[in-house]
Amino acid sequence: MPCKCVLCGYEKKGLTSDFTKWPEIPGFNTEFYPVTKNGKPDGEVLGLICARCLNHADSMRVYVKAMMSGVQVTRHAVIRFIERSGSAIPDEQTGRVAVIKAFSKSRRIRFRTEFMVTRLINNDFQDVDYYWVSDLVFVVTRLKPRTIVTVEKLWGKGLNKDFFLVEE
Ligand SMILES: [Zn+2]
Repeated sequence: MPCKCVLCGYEKKGLTSDFTKWPEIPGFNTEFYPVTKNGKPDGEVLGLICARCLNHADSMRVYVKAMMSGVQVTRHAVIRFIERSGSAIPDEQTGRVAVIKAFSKSRRIRFRTEFMVTRLINNDFQDVDYYWVSDLVFVVTRLKPRTIVTVEKLWGKGLNKDFFLVEE
């Protein structure tokens, strides 16, 4: 099997062998990832994919999972996310995947009662849930389809002081 990405065809020249198991691959490095039968490290290698294709597949996995769970992202939320995370994101579609990826790691929170009241007013009495990851807060509608309407910063608010985890 040549050391070649089965998806895009990217090839590491001079690394061809009769290997059937990873990591017997000579000169193996993190440029290529083996896809094995059953996903086990000692499984038969079905093919190799390059780091770039793996990364794209991973983005799509997150995206597809989110789509299947029915979470949508507004354009406004994408723009706020790019601003607030300070990431260099080239276009809206990539931004949407980045929002969903970050959101998938978030946990549901509630704010201290007085914050909740102001928030309810700011949200025009819309029923929303708040999800937190790192220093970002995702504001998500309860009405279906559940939609991430905006992304805020924590602005120094502290866990178990200003906001609390909600067990789901
Ligand atoms: Zn590839």
